[in-house]
Amino acid sequence: MRVVVVGAGVIGVTTAYYLSRVGCEVTVVDRAATVADAASRANGGQLSYSFTDALAKPGFIAQIPALLAGRNPGSRVQLAPDFLPWGLRFLAQCTKGRARDNTLVVLKIAMRSARLMDEIRRNLPFDFSHRSAGKLVLLSSDDELRSAEASSRLKNSHGCATEILTAEEAIRLEESLDALSNTFTGAVYSRNDEVADARLFTEGMQTWLEQTGSAKFILGASVDDIQTKQNRVQSVVIGNQELEADAIVVCAGAWSSKLLRPLGIDPHIYPVRGYSVTLPQGERSPLVSVTALKQRIVFSRINGSMRIAGFADFTGFSTADDRQRIGMLVDVARSFAPLAADYTAGEQQPWGGFRPMTPDGRPRTGKTRVDGLFLNTGHGMLGWTLACASGYDVAQAVTKSLH
Ligand SMILES: Cc1cc2nc3c(=O)[nH]c(=O)nc-3n(C[C@H](O)[C@H](O)[C@H](O)COP(=O)(O)OP(=O)(O)OC[C@H]3O[C@@H](n4cnc5c(N)ncnc54)[C@H](O)[C@@H]3O)c2cc1C
Repeated sequence: MRVVVVGAGVIGVTTAYYLSRVGCEVTVVDRAATVADAASRANGGQLSYSFTDALAKPGFIAQIPALLAGRNPGSRVQLAPDFLPWGLRFLAQCTKGRARDNTLVVLKIAMRSARLMDEIRRNLPFDFSHRSAGKLVLLSSDDELRSAEASSRLKNSHGCATEILTAEEAIRLEESLDALSNTFTGAVYSRNDEVADARLFTEGMQTWLEQTGSAKFILGASVDDIQTKQNRVQSVVIGNQELEADAIVVCAGAWSSKLLRPLGIDPHIYPVRGYSVTLPQGERSPLVSVTALKQRIVFSRINGSMRIAGFADFTGFSTADDRQRIGMLVDVARSFAPLAADYTAGEQQPWGGFRPMTPDGRPRTGKTRVDGLFLNTGHGMLGWTLACASGYDVAQAVTKSLH
């Protein structure tokens, strides 16, 4: 069976891997000249198996006035016409029941991903700077603490292993936290969370798939259209060429809706811009991954450097404010954790990426109403975390469609 995977981010390459394992003849197509050119390039690196909490939750409603007034440095919202329908769907998910269901659905995918990632690490030969770092989410108020306790109870009752720590306990675990400029109320600790470089993984997977003859890659080739006949996929159109396929899997991240719209399929994906900067380590760089919840930033020690990532801007596909936003990210990080990185270094690596966000935070994985057309997209804040199980699931769905 000939399968074309559109998109060579972390989702596209894991999809290709699992498709090759079920015997498909796989071709991955991406318009960029290299793999991992978009959201999978310099993300936070966190394999956040325990932190699948939905962004859409009742507490979010209270934050809206500050967001709209531009008083939240971690997030910007532009009420543009293409944002409003998505925004309304997102608000509809901000109930207690939906937040709970969405958190648990994603948790199950994350826990399966952890097992599959472990299998990949044992079986495939390439290195991607993986570390069993554990993760601390720092809480800055009693409200955050109460909400974290409830979330921890819920997730732990479904197989997760998070612990609520006092600030003193958190500092005993990660001593560099005593060099923070802010105090914190407590922390959630998950010893099972990991950190690794999504770009190295994506590149390593490409090389391995090509070298073993498991998949072909066509890069620098934009898929302009997906051709169908009698409600069945025929081919992808790349310029004036057609690449025939028995099945097509759309892994086009934040651009998936654009590609699917002509087929009448809308996965409701909105591009949410986030940023990172990779700096040399500082005098007191944490070994454990650290998330500052209020500031919306993460500190990950990857590959001997300190990656600081975060912010969530709902401003469409605009990149106009990147310099300013990355500058602000560095300022927020420096004032929060002045010794975590060498902020004065010349060799800063600034980056911005579009998270493919769905209103409910659940990825869109599996078949569509067009025969032979499958989705694996919409992983939002957690694409690196969810990649393995999503890739596995879509490969199973493709094989099932054969029988
Ligand atoms: C600042 C930031 C921090 C993050 N931190 C984390 C984290 O710590 N942990 C975590 O789990 N997740 C994190 N994420 C989220 C994660 O990075 C994404 O969910 C994930 O990378 C999405 O992968 P993807 O393969 O779906 O999309 P992408 O990596 O964006 O890949 C999509 C690919 O499709 C290609 N494409 C699109 N349209 C076409 C077309 N028409 N023809 C050909 N090719 C096309 C693009 O060129 C691109 O290469 C973070 C994201 C950001 C922005």
